[in-house]
Amino acid sequence: MDKDTQQTVTGRFAPSPTGRMHFGNIFAAVLSWLSVHSRHGRWVLRIEDLDPQRSKYEYARQIEDDLAWLGIEADEGGTADRGTHGPYSQSRRGEFYERTLRRLEELGLVYGCTCTRADIMATQAPHMSDGRVVYSGKCRPAACPPFGSSPGPGARRLYVPDRDIIFTDGICGPQHVNLARHCGDFVLRRADGAWAYQLAVVADDAAMGITEVMRGRDLLLSAAQQIYLFGLQGLKAPEYVHIPLVCNAAGQRLSKRDSSESMAELRHRYTPEAILGRVGYCAGLLDRNEECSLCDLLKVYNRDKISRDEAVYV
Ligand code: GLU
Ligand code: ZN
Repeated sequence: MDKDTQQTVTGRFAPSPTGRMHFGNIFAAVLSWLSVHSRHGRWVLRIEDLDPQRSKYEYARQIEDDLAWLGIEADEGGTADRGTHGPYSQSRRGEFYERTLRRLEELGLVYGCTCTRADIMATQAPHMSDGRVVYSGKCRPAACPPFGSSPGPGARRLYVPDRDIIFTDGICGPQHVNLARHCGDFVLRRADGAWAYQLAVVADDAAMGITEVMRGRDLLLSAAQQIYLFGLQGLKAPEYVHIPLVCNAAGQRLSKRDSSESMAELRHRYTPEAILGRVGYCAGLLDRNEECSLCDLLKVYNRDKISRDEAVYV
């Protein structure tokens, strides 16, 4: 990593191009942009198109177009692969993931898992009311495989320790997460060869010199998995900053089904300044919901003002 990269605050927006963005996506994009630009940093746009069935190039182009409509352009990355840390689409970054997996395998911390989904559901701890699946460790070898030995067939799983990962989130404060209880040994690469989100995101955040990850609160616990992966490789993890989720009036997190909050509809009904004002108001940066420019938001931006609530409502 060069000196420049180390010193510059570097944030990223990492959308999955599986549909049109909605107000919740814009909320995260704008706040992460403000956060780094309020400190003259660099904002990277990374296309998280690991899922070939659901990801489309046209959606990635549309994301860039919706951001441009708001006056936001990435300093680095995007579909044009601008910058020196590319490619910026995960579907073309397999060699980085191979290298990361190999490093973890060399530590003797990876094993093959041949469980089917049914096996995993049948053996998991009974009461995960939030829908999490905690792997029971069925295929975990009794002892760590010797250093450098190759894991058996199947998905690649990573040993996790039965102790707390401790970190301080930039908004949510101190966190203690026991990975053994939260997720168990987790998958780095699926049996069909597909890369897991956790491995890809860490390999990319490291390679792209990301110093700050600002994103929705739904990924707060994932940060512990990611910090663990950084630590195993002897790398410094970025600062994690989890912002509230945007919910509709019924209290549900916005999704692609909330068509009235889709950028297709919002661009039709509002000006860019109205949308930016709404981001500022929902986040807690503005006292009133009124039109404002990106420049105005930059002037009032202050992380301490961002709501610490789990959700904000449109
Ligand atoms: N690609 C993920 C998503 O769209 C975001 C991952 C991240 O920010 O770490 O939900
Ligand atoms: Zn297994």
